[in-house]
Amino acid sequence: MEIPFSENYRIKMVEQLRKSTRQERETWIREAKYNLFNLHSEQVFIDLLTDSGTGAMSDKQWSAMMLGDESYAGATSYYKMRKAIQEILGFEYFLPTHQGRAAENVLYSTIVKAGDVVPGNSHFDTTKGHIEFRKAAAVDCTIDAAADTQLEIPFKGEMDLEKLEKVLKETPKDRIPCCVLTVTNNTAGGQPVSMKNIRETSELCHKYGILVQIDGARFAENAYFIKTREEGYQDKSIKEIVREMLSYGDIMTMSSKKDAIVNMGGFLAFRDKELWRRCQMFCVMNEGFITYGGLSGRDMNALAQGLDEGTEFDTLETRIEQVAYLGRKLDEYGIPYQRPAGGHAIFLDAKKILTHVPKEEFIAQTLGIELYLEAGIRGVEIGSILADRDPITRENRYPRLELLRLAIPRRTYTNNHMDVIAAAVKNVFDRRESITRGYVITEELPVMRHFTIELAPAK
Ligand SMILES: *Cc1c(COP(=O)(O)O)cnc(C)c1O
Repeated sequence: MEIPFSENYRIKMVEQLRKSTRQERETWIREAKYNLFNLHSEQVFIDLLTDSGTGAMSDKQWSAMMLGDESYAGATSYYKMRKAIQEILGFEYFLPTHQGRAAENVLYSTIVKAGDVVPGNSHFDTTKGHIEFRKAAAVDCTIDAAADTQLEIPFKGEMDLEKLEKVLKETPKDRIPCCVLTVTNNTAGGQPVSMKNIRETSELCHKYGILVQIDGARFAENAYFIKTREEGYQDKSIKEIVREMLSYGDIMTMSSKKDAIVNMGGFLAFRDKELWRRCQMFCVMNEGFITYGGLSGRDMNALAQGLDEGTEFDTLETRIEQVAYLGRKLDEYGIPYQRPAGGHAIFLDAKKILTHVPKEEFIAQTLGIELYLEAGIRGVEIGSILADRDPITRENRYPRLELLRLAIPRRTYTNNHMDVIAAAVKNVFDRRESITRGYVITEELPVMRHFTIELAPAK
């Protein structure tokens, strides 16, 4: 008999979960104003809100924390992090920041001005927020295929080079501070970008004299997909693939809460010393001195160790296989999701599941609330609430896709939990005909409203 696949770790410490009743959940979600971000974590049984900072650190990371050097300047922890960034990622210069968006803040404070244009393959929400907040435009150049949830192609997160070239041609060079290449493409469903597309995007940008910023929150997952799906990379190690991928970027922004498997942390890495120097000012002003940014020494130690573990094939295989396992369960039940399964999450296709809820009543959010009520599972809306209003007309934007993201934290849940999730989704799917109304907004903030929005059932 073939030996089945299993995790490459065993569990040394456990954390108790609390189960709840449907009646309790009905009260809690009402008190949370139908915003899943407002739930207390004890009110959630399986938390798939995000895989950001929610992973389980290894024994080696925990022990590295004990060796943290909390000196204000020049801590050994800073040099450990620098060594990992230089050796694993191949960037000479970097600034630590407290998380990914802080790296964006430091970078864009330095290089983005009003009226600028920043093309990219589906900018992440904080990335877009930081661009639009500065009255610049984030222009999406993702391939059209990314919007067809049922199409199975290996690299569905790619940049459309024709769309990108159009932007580069039509915009004066001094109005394009950089082009953002997000790997994997989070917003399009955790879908990877091929090495070929990364290289060609970089060549095109450089032909026009534009800097390439790699948003590398999930760079290691992307490398795993290149190894397992792209011709010519099967025999290369993840670390070799990572080095090549990142060699095409001039700048890297990183949320280390993703592929460096820490609970808090980020950085901004550069090839160019001059740009690194220019960014130091905003790092010192907003984050902290340049050898700690927003991090304590122990955080930098865990991050350096996490970069090493996170770029090991076995770690990535365990993770991505678990997401694929959940995908196969959903296939058994005939549930539509963004295909193929992404690296860090399953994205349920809410428009295909809740066909009776009008788009003005937030289809994916409605599905998220139903799944919570069903089994205490918390996902997150990637739809029109996240898409926010048009910065000029202030009208709601309705993206082509209404997705409910079920993000799987790293090394945290077991495949039994995956079975529970799949069964709960099936139960909601089975009663989909009876779900006809969604929600209306009662309160919202002008930027990144999804975190704090308040809703009420539509009448
Ligand atoms: C999470 C994420 C960010 C922002 O990072 P934070 O650590 O949450 O601030 C930016 N880009 C991508 C692609 C991400 O997934």
